[in-house]
Amino acid sequence: MTEQMAALKKEIEKRRTFAIISHPDAGKTTLTEKLLLFGGAIREAGSIKGRKASRHATSDWMEIERKRGISVTSTVLQFQYEGYHVNLLDTPGHQDFSDDTYRTLVAADSAVMLIDAAKGVEPQTIKLFEVCRMRGIPIFTFINKLDRESRDPFELLKELEDVLGIHSYPMNWPVGSGAHFRGIFDRRRTVFEQYDGREQKVTRTPLTGVEDERLRERIGDEPYQKLMEEITLLDVAGDSFDESAVQQGQLTPVFFGSAISNFGVETFLRQFLELAPTPVARPTSEGLLCPETPTFAGFVFKIQANMNPAHRDRVAFVRVCAGRFSRGMNVAHPRTGKRINLSSPQQFFAQDRSIVEEAYPGDIIGIFDPGIFRIGDTLIESGSLTFEGLPQFSPEHFARVTLTDTGKYKQYNKGLAQLTEEGTVQLFRVANRTEDLILGVVGVLQFEVLEYRLKAEYGVTVSLTRLPYQLARWIVSDRADELLFDRSSCLLVKDQDERFVMLFPNEFATRWVLERNDGVTLHSTSNAL
Ligand code: GDP
Repeated sequence: MTEQMAALKKEIEKRRTFAIISHPDAGKTTLTEKLLLFGGAIREAGSIKGRKASRHATSDWMEIERKRGISVTSTVLQFQYEGYHVNLLDTPGHQDFSDDTYRTLVAADSAVMLIDAAKGVEPQTIKLFEVCRMRGIPIFTFINKLDRESRDPFELLKELEDVLGIHSYPMNWPVGSGAHFRGIFDRRRTVFEQYDGREQKVTRTPLTGVEDERLRERIGDEPYQKLMEEITLLDVAGDSFDESAVQQGQLTPVFFGSAISNFGVETFLRQFLELAPTPVARPTSEGLLCPETPTFAGFVFKIQANMNPAHRDRVAFVRVCAGRFSRGMNVAHPRTGKRINLSSPQQFFAQDRSIVEEAYPGDIIGIFDPGIFRIGDTLIESGSLTFEGLPQFSPEHFARVTLTDTGKYKQYNKGLAQLTEEGTVQLFRVANRTEDLILGVVGVLQFEVLEYRLKAEYGVTVSLTRLPYQLARWIVSDRADELLFDRSSCLLVKDQDERFVMLFPNEFATRWVLERNDGVTLHSTSNAL
């Protein structure tokens, strides 16, 4: 092995690139903050929320963000921890839930599923989980807020299995919850971590096993009996730990803790980093591309526009998939056949952004986009391969768009085309009526963003009429245009790539179509085609 290859391999082995998936309020911001604190990337808790606030204050972001006090776009946070180089992809999750949230997961190599111990699996968790499942990436679970009255842990694990269909292996097990929360028992290392309220001080007691009398002394007779019984039950009746099942996303290691009290977080982080995969090989037009391939290759998974609306500058976020990237590198852009000089790529830290000199597989770089990139584009140092395009995910909100100012067709078409390429909205054309345009989005805020940007950047006013559909299904059939369906409640459209898609008001209507059309299959993402 040459020295260069050895160096590349070493960098790859250090990298862990993941995203946190959760339902709003499960504690993602709190957990992220604690993780960054361990990594030394931020100095004090509260900086994440503070960061959002100060960013708005400097006001070079979209006005809509400022008005609403939320972030429309996500960032990448990077930190070092015990020799690991960690890239945490921050997925938008609140009112700003959008297509970006899904696409960010495509750039991740693993996911942490964060669950509120009192609530269990919630709707947004399910949607995000499905995307991870589709990619087969490893999923780690952190069950949060044990300092509050929680649901029975066995019941929570059963819910993972019943609702998400994933097996679980508790890496540690809680003793009580809320006012009776005593701590967690680490099953694999047989260590007890004692919870001392919000003191944020953790006492770790190494034990010979769950039967160790010191444990009884620490937590008292009754909780001790209960813990013994529960651990025995897990050992006898639970799933066994199988690392390959974890790597394939079929078994999720489960950790318990309380992010706000910083309890169980470091234990989680350590074991997660040990088990989480290094950057994985990615499918391309020429087969799987290994990260150790010496020439740089990456793909655009997100485009963030309007950091300064006056200049229409955009940043394309590129996930490095292979080779070493260095500043000033000249790369090919296969879709346009152009070569591009990447002179000032940026990297994103918790508080700042800075010019990056080099990057390795797993890293995310932001590059200045003069308006040439599309979501899913490949950038490559040499050769001609392209990464598989990013899937489109079923929108949940739909609207018919019409131009109110008919003199501005050119700008309107240009604006819509550009914003579709950036992934702000999905654009569908009603079959046989090409001027009839339907927009689809995952989060309703995207409609506002579109209207605002068409006006601000293209000088175009549009009117949007909301439509009652809730699902889009990509159709696989030889005769998609002859399908039998209820025209009063469904709509047949084509996506940007001329694929047939049916818009439905509910799941029931999808079954109606499946039952009446032999040999048809319907898919909730475009990539199943
Ligand atoms: P996000 O919406 O998922 O980013 O959630 P946040 O991190 O903003 O947390 C939502 C609320 O739950 C906030 O009031 C947090 O203080 C609270 N919270 C987060 N983690 C914990 C925890 O471990 N215990 C308790 N009791 N509250 C928590």
